[in-house]
Amino acid sequence: MNIILLGPPGAGKGTQARILTEKRGMIQLSTGDMLRAAKNSGTEMGKKVAAIMDAGQLVTDEIVIGLIEEQLDAHPEGGFIFDGFPRTLAQADALGALLDKHGMTLDAVIEMRVDDDALVARITARSTCATCGEGYNDISKPIPADGKCAVCGGTEFIRRADDNEESLRTRLMEYYKKTSPLIGYYYAKGKLKPVNGLGEIDEVAKEIAGVLDAV
Ligand code: AMP
Repeated sequence: MNIILLGPPGAGKGTQARILTEKRGMIQLSTGDMLRAAKNSGTEMGKKVAAIMDAGQLVTDEIVIGLIEEQLDAHPEGGFIFDGFPRTLAQADALGALLDKHGMTLDAVIEMRVDDDALVARITARSTCATCGEGYNDISKPIPADGKCAVCGGTEFIRRADDNEESLRTRLMEYYKKTSPLIGYYYAKGKLKPVNGLGEIDEVAKEIAGVLDAV
């Protein structure tokens, strides 16, 4: 099964993708994670995208489509969760063509619905374990009182460079201008499955599981 998690920044796509990888053995393909890895390791491509990402703008379609194609080539068995991809209509068309080329299908597009106030609150409060990537939130899921990650015991936690109010405003605008048209695009293809992204993490996970079991 191959699915897309679609929703604005802070909707919980990464959190739910991690749960799906654990519970269903799916492969998370987060273009944001791939680009951050390139940025942190200082590759040529990473240098090119760093400032764009920090400002909250979208990098070119060509770059992210290339990253996704590499992963499809590397995992012919499929079972992907596309997280943060596609983000434009051109990317959505390219994904359709790539899946066809690899003999794969798109089974569902989970649209995670949340309101903007919740997004701002979530994003400005979130951090991640530097060792294992477990996500935390100062309000809803604080770092344990002993300062150690509940999953791996790591003691270093990082906040994303673009998780500040100014970048967030740009990221939301990019989402509404360029990504939200994908809701209509996938609705017209009969793939769209809206879920309420505002609940507790486990509740959202349960709703997504119900949707996927029915596909
Ligand atoms: P994310 O971790 O998904 O929030 O992505 C972080 C940043 O990476 C975005 O604000 C963009 O600058 C860039 N990015 C990630 N995925 C894409 C994509 N599919 N298309 C264009 N830019 C992307």
